[in-house]
Amino acid sequence: MLETTRTYRAKIVNHQQVSDDLDDCGHSASKLWNVARYYTQGRWNDDGEIPDDGELKSELKEHERYSDLHSQSSQRVLEELAESFTSWYKARQRGDENANPPGYRKHGDEHPRSTVTWKQKGIKHDSKHNQIRLSKGFNLKNHRSDFILTEYETRPDVTVENIQQVRAVWNGNRWELHLVCKVEIPVEDAPGDNTAGIDLGIKNYLAIAYDDGDAELYPGNVLKQDKHYFTRNEYGTEGENGASKRALRARQKLSRRKNHFLHALAKHIVEQCIDHEVGRIAIGDLSEIREEDGKARNWGKRGNKKLHGWEFDRFTRLLEYKAEEHGILVDRKSERDTSKTCSCCGRKRDANRVERGLYVCESCGTTMNADMNGAVNIRRKITQNPPTGDMSNGRLARPVAYLFNQTSGSFHPREQVSCKP
Ligand SMILES: [Zn+2]
Repeated sequence: MLETTRTYRAKIVNHQQVSDDLDDCGHSASKLWNVARYYTQGRWNDDGEIPDDGELKSELKEHERYSDLHSQSSQRVLEELAESFTSWYKARQRGDENANPPGYRKHGDEHPRSTVTWKQKGIKHDSKHNQIRLSKGFNLKNHRSDFILTEYETRPDVTVENIQQVRAVWNGNRWELHLVCKVEIPVEDAPGDNTAGIDLGIKNYLAIAYDDGDAELYPGNVLKQDKHYFTRNEYGTEGENGASKRALRARQKLSRRKNHFLHALAKHIVEQCIDHEVGRIAIGDLSEIREEDGKARNWGKRGNKKLHGWEFDRFTRLLEYKAEEHGILVDRKSERDTSKTCSCCGRKRDANRVERGLYVCESCGTTMNADMNGAVNIRRKITQNPPTGDMSNGRLARPVAYLFNQTSGSFHPREQVSCKP
Protein backbone atom coordinates (compact mmCIF):
# COMPACT_ATOMS: atom_id res chain seq x y z
CA MET A 1 0.00 0.00 0.00
CA LEU A 2 1.15 3.47 -0.82
CA GLU A 3 0.17 6.33 1.46
CA THR A 4 -0.34 9.49 -0.49
CA THR A 5 -2.67 12.46 -0.77
CA ARG A 6 -5.42 13.28 -3.20
CA THR A 7 -6.84 16.73 -3.76
CA TYR A 8 -10.55 16.87 -4.51
CA ARG A 9 -12.29 19.98 -5.74
CA ALA A 10 -15.54 20.71 -4.01
CA LYS A 11 -18.31 23.11 -4.81
CA ILE A 12 -19.61 25.19 -1.92
CA VAL A 13 -23.35 24.62 -1.86
CA ASN A 14 -24.17 27.40 0.60
CA HIS A 15 -21.95 29.90 -1.16
CA GLN A 16 -24.21 32.85 -0.47
CA GLN A 17 -24.07 32.32 3.30
CA VAL A 18 -20.31 31.93 3.54
CA SER A 19 -18.87 34.10 0.78
CA ASP A 20 -18.56 37.24 2.94
CA ASP A 21 -16.65 35.34 5.60
CA LEU A 22 -14.41 33.74 3.01
CA ASP A 23 -13.82 37.16 1.42
CA ASP A 24 -12.68 38.45 4.82
CA CYS A 25 -10.26 35.55 5.16
CA GLY A 26 -8.95 35.96 1.60
CA HIS A 27 -8.35 39.68 2.10
CA SER A 28 -6.70 39.03 5.46
CA ALA A 29 -4.35 36.50 3.91
CA SER A 30 -3.29 39.17 1.40
CA LYS A 31 -2.73 41.71 4.17
CA LEU A 32 -0.63 39.30 6.22
CA TRP A 33 1.33 38.42 3.09
CA ASN A 34 2.08 42.13 2.60
CA VAL A 35 3.14 42.58 6.23
CA ALA A 36 5.59 39.68 5.86
CA ARG A 37 6.68 40.91 2.44
CA TYR A 38 7.52 44.28 4.02
CA TYR A 39 9.41 42.66 6.88
CA THR A 40 11.41 40.52 4.44
CA GLN A 41 12.30 43.57 2.36
CA GLY A 42 13.63 45.27 5.49
CA ARG A 43 15.83 42.30 6.40
CA TRP A 44 17.08 42.12 2.83
CA ASN A 45 17.91 45.84 2.74
CA ASP A 46 19.60 45.72 6.15
CA ASP A 47 21.82 42.69 5.81
CA GLY A 48 21.14 41.02 2.45
CA GLU A 49 19.47 38.03 4.03
CA ILE A 50 16.08 36.44 3.58
CA PRO A 51 14.25 35.36 6.72
CA ASP A 52 12.97 31.76 6.71
CA ASP A 53 9.44 30.86 7.68
CA GLY A 54 10.53 30.15 11.25
CA GLU A 55 11.75 33.70 11.68
CA LEU A 56 8.66 35.16 10.02
CA LYS A 57 6.40 33.17 12.35
CA SER A 58 8.19 34.19 15.54
CA GLU A 59 8.58 37.82 14.48
CA LEU A 60 5.02 38.31 13.26
CA LYS A 61 2.92 36.13 15.55
CA GLU A 62 2.07 39.14 17.74
CA HIS A 63 1.15 41.24 14.73
CA GLU A 64 -2.50 42.23 14.56
CA ARG A 65 -2.90 40.81 11.05
CA TYR A 66 -1.65 37.41 12.23
CA SER A 67 -4.76 37.04 14.40
CA ASP A 68 -7.14 37.66 11.52
CA LEU A 69 -6.83 34.01 10.52
CA HIS A 70 -6.56 30.73 12.40
CA SER A 71 -2.93 30.43 13.53
CA GLN A 72 -2.21 27.50 11.19
CA SER A 73 -3.71 29.45 8.27
CA SER A 74 -1.51 32.45 9.08
CA GLN A 75 1.51 30.17 9.34
CA ARG A 76 0.76 28.81 5.89
CA VAL A 77 0.73 32.34 4.41
CA LEU A 78 4.17 32.98 5.90
CA GLU A 79 5.48 29.63 4.66
CA GLU A 80 4.28 30.43 1.14
CA LEU A 81 6.04 33.78 1.20
CA ALA A 82 9.26 32.24 2.49
CA GLU A 83 9.06 29.55 -0.20
CA SER A 84 8.61 32.11 -2.98
CA PHE A 85 11.50 34.19 -1.69
CA THR A 86 13.72 31.13 -1.47
CA SER A 87 13.01 30.09 -5.05
CA TRP A 88 13.63 33.65 -6.24
CA TYR A 89 16.92 33.69 -4.31
CA LYS A 90 18.01 30.38 -5.83
CA ALA A 91 17.17 31.58 -9.34
CA ARG A 92 19.17 34.74 -8.64
CA GLN A 93 22.16 32.68 -7.54
CA ARG A 94 21.90 30.65 -10.74
CA GLY A 95 22.28 33.95 -12.57
CA ASP A 96 18.69 34.16 -13.79
CA GLU A 97 18.34 37.88 -14.53
CA ASN A 98 14.62 37.68 -15.18
CA ALA A 99 13.72 36.27 -11.79
CA ASN A 100 11.56 38.61 -9.74
CA PRO A 101 10.97 38.44 -6.00
CA PRO A 102 7.36 37.85 -4.95
CA GLY A 103 5.38 41.10 -5.02
CA TYR A 104 2.84 42.74 -2.75
CA ARG A 105 -0.74 41.57 -3.04
CA LYS A 106 -2.50 44.84 -3.60
CA HIS A 107 -4.23 46.49 -6.53
CA GLY A 108 -4.66 50.15 -5.61
CA ASP A 109 -6.60 50.13 -2.38
CA GLU A 110 -7.94 46.66 -3.02
CA HIS A 111 -6.54 43.47 -1.58
CA PRO A 112 -7.09 40.44 -3.79
CA ARG A 113 -8.68 37.30 -2.39
CA SER A 114 -5.72 35.10 -1.59
CA THR A 115 -6.06 31.36 -1.23
CA VAL A 116 -6.60 30.49 2.43
CA THR A 117 -5.38 27.18 3.82
CA TRP A 118 -6.69 25.43 6.91
CA LYS A 119 -4.77 22.61 8.50
CA GLN A 120 -6.14 19.94 10.79
CA LYS A 121 -6.59 22.03 13.93
CA GLY A 122 -8.73 24.53 12.03
CA ILE A 123 -10.98 21.92 10.39
CA LYS A 124 -13.98 19.99 11.65
CA HIS A 125 -15.40 17.60 9.09
CA ASP A 126 -18.90 16.17 9.26
CA SER A 127 -18.80 13.57 6.50
CA LYS A 128 -22.38 12.52 7.06
CA HIS A 129 -23.75 15.93 6.16
CA ASN A 130 -20.97 17.03 3.80
CA GLN A 131 -20.12 19.94 6.06
CA ILE A 132 -16.79 21.41 7.02
CA ARG A 133 -16.24 23.94 9.79
CA LEU A 134 -13.34 26.25 9.11
CA SER A 135 -12.01 28.19 12.09
CA LYS A 136 -11.75 31.95 11.92
CA GLY A 137 -8.96 33.91 13.49
CA PHE A 138 -9.52 35.80 16.73
CA ASN A 139 -10.02 39.16 15.00
CA LEU A 140 -12.68 37.92 12.60
CA LYS A 141 -14.81 36.12 15.16
CA ASN A 142 -18.08 37.90 15.74
CA HIS A 143 -21.27 37.51 17.70
CA ARG A 144 -22.59 34.93 15.32
CA SER A 145 -19.83 32.39 15.18
CA ASP A 146 -16.14 31.70 15.34
CA PHE A 147 -16.13 29.37 12.38
CA ILE A 148 -17.35 29.24 8.80
CA LEU A 149 -19.76 26.39 8.19
CA THR A 150 -19.43 25.28 4.56
CA GLU A 151 -21.59 22.72 2.86
CA TYR A 152 -19.78 21.06 0.01
CA GLU A 153 -20.44 18.82 -2.92
CA THR A 154 -17.89 16.70 -4.77
CA ARG A 155 -18.02 14.34 -7.70
CA PRO A 156 -20.21 11.38 -6.74
CA ASP A 157 -17.37 8.85 -6.96
CA VAL A 158 -15.22 10.75 -4.46
CA THR A 159 -15.08 9.73 -0.82
CA VAL A 160 -13.95 12.58 1.36
CA GLU A 161 -12.17 11.31 4.48
CA ASN A 162 -8.94 11.90 6.38
CA ILE A 163 -8.84 15.56 5.42
CA GLN A 164 -5.37 16.97 5.96
CA GLN A 165 -5.91 20.40 4.54
CA VAL A 166 -8.66 22.56 3.15
CA ARG A 167 -7.86 25.33 0.74
CA ALA A 168 -10.42 27.99 -0.12
CA VAL A 169 -9.65 29.16 -3.63
CA TRP A 170 -11.23 32.12 -5.39
CA ASN A 171 -11.71 31.07 -9.00
CA GLY A 172 -12.44 34.58 -10.23
CA ASN A 173 -16.15 34.14 -9.86
CA ARG A 174 -16.76 32.26 -6.63
CA TRP A 175 -15.01 30.39 -3.89
CA GLU A 176 -14.36 26.69 -4.14
CA LEU A 177 -12.75 24.23 -1.75
CA HIS A 178 -9.80 22.00 -2.46
CA LEU A 179 -9.81 19.12 -0.02
CA VAL A 180 -6.47 17.43 0.52
CA CYS A 181 -7.13 13.94 1.83
CA LYS A 182 -4.81 11.19 2.97
CA VAL A 183 -5.46 7.99 1.04
CA GLU A 184 -3.97 4.54 0.86
CA ILE A 185 -3.73 2.96 -2.55
CA PRO A 186 -2.63 -0.51 -3.51
CA VAL A 187 0.46 -0.51 -5.71
CA GLU A 188 1.17 -3.04 -8.40
CA ASP A 189 4.44 -3.80 -10.11
CA ALA A 190 5.03 -1.84 -13.29
CA PRO A 191 3.61 -3.67 -16.32
CA GLY A 192 7.03 -3.56 -18.03
CA ASP A 193 10.02 -1.44 -18.99
CA ASN A 194 8.59 0.14 -22.13
CA THR A 195 7.99 3.84 -22.54
CA ALA A 196 5.27 5.99 -24.07
CA GLY A 197 5.09 9.67 -25.00
CA ILE A 198 1.98 11.81 -24.80
CA ASP A 199 1.26 15.09 -26.54
CA LEU A 200 -1.78 17.03 -25.37
CA GLY A 201 -3.13 19.36 -27.99
CA ILE A 202 -5.92 21.32 -29.50
CA LYS A 203 -6.57 19.48 -32.73
CA ASN A 204 -6.22 16.06 -31.18
CA TYR A 205 -6.87 16.05 -27.48
CA LEU A 206 -4.18 13.46 -27.01
CA ALA A 207 -1.58 11.68 -29.14
CA ILE A 208 0.40 8.77 -27.73
CA ALA A 209 3.43 6.99 -29.18
CA TYR A 210 4.75 3.70 -27.81
CA ASP A 211 8.26 2.42 -28.36
CA ASP A 212 7.13 -0.54 -30.44
CA GLY A 213 5.91 1.95 -33.05
CA ASP A 214 2.23 1.81 -32.18
CA ALA A 215 0.57 5.21 -32.28
CA GLU A 216 -2.88 6.38 -31.23
CA LEU A 217 -4.83 9.60 -31.61
CA TYR A 218 -7.71 10.75 -29.45
CA PRO A 219 -9.47 13.54 -31.32
CA GLY A 220 -11.76 14.57 -28.46
CA ASN A 221 -14.48 15.30 -30.99
CA VAL A 222 -17.21 14.88 -28.40
CA LEU A 223 -15.77 17.82 -26.46
CA LYS A 224 -16.18 20.08 -29.45
CA GLN A 225 -19.67 18.79 -30.23
CA ASP A 226 -20.71 19.21 -26.60
CA LYS A 227 -19.36 22.70 -26.39
CA HIS A 228 -21.19 23.65 -29.55
CA TYR A 229 -24.40 22.03 -28.36
CA PHE A 230 -24.53 23.26 -24.78
CA THR A 231 -23.49 26.82 -25.40
CA ARG A 232 -25.83 27.41 -28.34
CA ASN A 233 -28.10 30.38 -28.23
CA GLU A 234 -31.35 28.78 -27.22
CA TYR A 235 -29.92 28.12 -23.79
CA GLY A 236 -29.76 31.85 -23.36
CA THR A 237 -26.77 34.09 -22.95
CA GLU A 238 -25.49 36.09 -20.04
CA GLY A 239 -28.08 38.74 -19.22
CA GLU A 240 -27.93 41.65 -16.85
CA ASN A 241 -28.35 39.35 -13.92
CA GLY A 242 -25.67 36.94 -15.04
CA ALA A 243 -26.40 33.72 -16.81
CA SER A 244 -29.95 32.48 -17.04
CA LYS A 245 -30.82 29.38 -15.04
CA ARG A 246 -31.13 27.44 -18.24
CA ALA A 247 -27.74 28.55 -19.48
CA LEU A 248 -26.23 27.79 -16.09
CA ARG A 249 -27.65 24.27 -16.07
CA ALA A 250 -26.41 23.70 -19.60
CA ARG A 251 -22.95 24.81 -18.57
CA GLN A 252 -22.98 22.48 -15.56
CA LYS A 253 -24.01 19.62 -17.79
CA LEU A 254 -21.23 20.50 -20.19
CA SER A 255 -18.68 20.44 -17.40
CA ARG A 256 -19.98 17.08 -16.09
CA ARG A 257 -19.68 15.55 -19.54
CA LYS A 258 -16.18 16.91 -19.90
CA ASN A 259 -15.22 15.42 -16.54
CA HIS A 260 -16.62 12.11 -17.67
CA PHE A 261 -14.51 12.28 -20.83
CA LEU A 262 -11.29 13.17 -18.98
CA HIS A 263 -11.70 10.38 -16.41
CA ALA A 264 -12.54 7.82 -19.07
CA LEU A 265 -9.60 8.92 -21.20
CA ALA A 266 -7.10 8.69 -18.33
CA LYS A 267 -8.40 5.23 -17.46
CA HIS A 268 -8.26 4.08 -21.07
CA ILE A 269 -4.71 5.37 -21.60
CA VAL A 270 -3.52 3.51 -18.50
CA GLU A 271 -5.15 0.31 -19.82
CA GLN A 272 -3.43 0.78 -23.20
CA CYS A 273 -0.12 1.32 -21.42
CA ILE A 274 -0.59 -1.89 -19.44
CA ASP A 275 -1.18 -3.73 -22.75
CA HIS A 276 2.02 -2.21 -24.12
CA GLU A 277 3.97 -3.11 -20.96
CA VAL A 278 4.78 0.52 -20.31
CA GLY A 279 6.53 1.43 -17.07
CA ARG A 280 7.06 5.08 -17.75
CA ILE A 281 5.07 7.74 -19.61
CA ALA A 282 6.54 11.07 -20.71
CA ILE A 283 4.10 13.96 -20.95
CA GLY A 284 4.58 17.68 -21.55
CA ASP A 285 5.03 19.77 -18.45
CA LEU A 286 2.27 22.29 -18.97
CA SER A 287 3.03 24.22 -15.82
CA GLU A 288 6.09 25.39 -17.67
CA ILE A 289 3.93 26.96 -20.33
CA ARG A 290 2.11 29.00 -17.73
CA GLU A 291 5.34 30.14 -16.12
CA GLU A 292 6.52 31.31 -19.48
CA ASP A 293 3.67 33.79 -19.73
CA GLY A 294 5.99 36.60 -20.73
CA LYS A 295 7.57 34.54 -23.46
CA ALA A 296 4.37 33.13 -24.89
CA ARG A 297 5.22 34.16 -28.42
CA ASN A 298 8.12 31.73 -28.45
CA TRP A 299 5.58 28.97 -28.50
CA GLY A 300 4.07 30.14 -31.74
CA LYS A 301 0.90 28.29 -32.59
CA ARG A 302 1.42 26.06 -29.60
CA GLY A 303 0.75 29.17 -27.53
CA ASN A 304 -2.86 28.08 -27.85
CA LYS A 305 -2.03 25.47 -25.29
CA LYS A 306 -1.82 28.17 -22.67
CA LEU A 307 -5.57 28.64 -22.83
CA HIS A 308 -6.01 24.98 -22.04
CA GLY A 309 -3.10 24.80 -19.61
CA TRP A 310 -5.22 24.46 -16.53
CA GLU A 311 -7.31 21.69 -18.04
CA PHE A 312 -4.30 19.81 -19.39
CA ASP A 313 -2.74 20.03 -15.96
CA ARG A 314 -5.88 18.53 -14.51
CA PHE A 315 -5.86 15.69 -17.02
CA THR A 316 -2.19 15.01 -16.27
CA ARG A 317 -2.97 14.73 -12.57
CA LEU A 318 -5.83 12.29 -13.29
CA LEU A 319 -3.45 10.25 -15.40
CA GLU A 320 -0.81 10.31 -12.66
CA TYR A 321 -3.30 9.03 -10.09
CA LYS A 322 -4.52 6.20 -12.25
CA ALA A 323 -1.06 5.26 -13.54
CA GLU A 324 0.43 5.29 -10.04
CA GLU A 325 -1.94 2.55 -8.93
CA HIS A 326 -0.49 0.30 -11.64
CA GLY A 327 3.11 1.13 -10.85
CA ILE A 328 3.47 3.31 -13.95
CA LEU A 329 5.44 6.52 -13.56
CA VAL A 330 4.23 9.67 -15.29
CA ASP A 331 7.20 11.87 -16.02
CA ARG A 332 6.55 15.54 -16.81
CA LYS A 333 9.09 16.77 -19.32
CA SER A 334 9.71 20.11 -20.94
CA GLU A 335 7.95 20.41 -24.30
CA ARG A 336 10.64 22.70 -25.62
CA ASP A 337 11.37 22.04 -29.30
CA THR A 338 9.17 18.94 -29.39
CA SER A 339 6.94 20.54 -32.00
CA LYS A 340 9.82 21.86 -34.11
CA THR A 341 12.07 18.81 -34.18
CA CYS A 342 11.59 16.08 -36.78
CA SER A 343 11.02 12.84 -34.91
CA CYS A 344 12.28 10.94 -37.94
CA CYS A 345 15.69 12.48 -38.65
CA GLY A 346 16.05 14.47 -35.41
CA ARG A 347 16.74 17.75 -37.16
CA LYS A 348 15.26 20.97 -35.83
CA ARG A 349 14.79 23.57 -38.48
CA ASP A 350 12.64 26.64 -38.64
CA ALA A 351 11.82 25.69 -42.22
CA ASN A 352 10.03 22.60 -40.91
CA ARG A 353 6.40 23.45 -40.88
CA VAL A 354 2.97 22.31 -39.82
CA GLU A 355 0.24 22.36 -42.41
CA ARG A 356 -3.31 21.25 -41.71
CA GLY A 357 -2.10 19.28 -38.73
CA LEU A 358 0.72 17.62 -40.68
CA TYR A 359 4.36 18.03 -39.78
CA VAL A 360 6.56 18.42 -42.84
CA CYS A 361 10.35 18.01 -42.57
CA GLU A 362 12.46 19.93 -45.08
CA SER A 363 15.45 17.70 -44.43
CA CYS A 364 14.18 14.17 -44.83
CA GLY A 365 10.80 14.78 -46.37
CA THR A 366 8.86 13.13 -43.57
CA THR A 367 5.22 14.07 -43.41
CA MET A 368 3.35 12.95 -40.37
CA ASN A 369 0.65 13.96 -37.96
CA ALA A 370 2.03 16.96 -36.06
CA ASP A 371 0.69 15.85 -32.68
CA MET A 372 2.19 12.40 -33.19
CA ASN A 373 5.52 13.99 -34.06
CA GLY A 374 5.33 15.80 -30.71
CA ALA A 375 4.44 12.59 -28.87
CA VAL A 376 7.43 10.73 -30.35
CA ASN A 377 9.76 13.58 -29.43
CA ILE A 378 8.49 13.74 -25.87
CA ARG A 379 8.94 9.97 -25.49
CA ARG A 380 12.54 10.36 -26.68
CA LYS A 381 13.21 12.51 -23.63
CA ILE A 382 13.00 9.46 -21.39
CA THR A 383 14.62 6.85 -23.56
CA GLN A 384 17.95 6.41 -25.33
CA ASN A 385 16.65 5.06 -28.62
CA PRO A 386 17.88 7.20 -31.50
CA PRO A 387 15.57 8.37 -34.27
CA THR A 388 14.98 5.30 -36.42
CA GLY A 389 14.67 6.91 -39.81
CA ASP A 390 11.92 4.72 -41.18
CA MET A 391 9.10 5.88 -39.03
CA SER A 392 7.25 7.76 -41.69
CA ASN A 393 6.52 4.43 -43.35
CA GLY A 394 5.64 2.56 -40.19
CA ARG A 395 2.66 2.46 -37.93
CA LEU A 396 3.48 5.98 -36.77
CA ALA A 397 2.36 7.29 -40.13
CA ARG A 398 -0.99 5.63 -39.68
CA PRO A 399 -2.01 6.20 -36.09
CA VAL A 400 -5.20 4.58 -34.92
CA ALA A 401 -7.84 7.14 -34.01
CA TYR A 402 -9.96 6.30 -30.97
CA LEU A 403 -13.39 7.86 -30.63
CA PHE A 404 -15.28 8.30 -27.40
CA ASN A 405 -18.69 6.76 -26.98
CA GLN A 406 -20.55 8.94 -24.50
CA THR A 407 -23.13 6.27 -23.69
CA SER A 408 -20.76 3.42 -22.92
CA GLY A 409 -18.09 5.75 -21.59
CA SER A 410 -15.42 3.92 -23.55
CA PHE A 411 -13.11 4.50 -26.51
CA HIS A 412 -13.23 2.54 -29.74
CA PRO A 413 -10.82 2.57 -32.67
CA ARG A 414 -12.02 4.10 -35.90
CA GLU A 415 -10.68 2.68 -39.16
CA GLN A 416 -7.01 3.42 -39.73
CA VAL A 417 -6.50 6.97 -40.94
CA SER A 418 -3.64 7.65 -43.27
CA CYS A 419 -1.62 10.69 -42.45
CA LYS A 420 0.16 10.75 -45.76
CA PRO A 421 -1.23 13.34 -48.10
ZN1 LIG B 1 13.30 14.90 -40.86
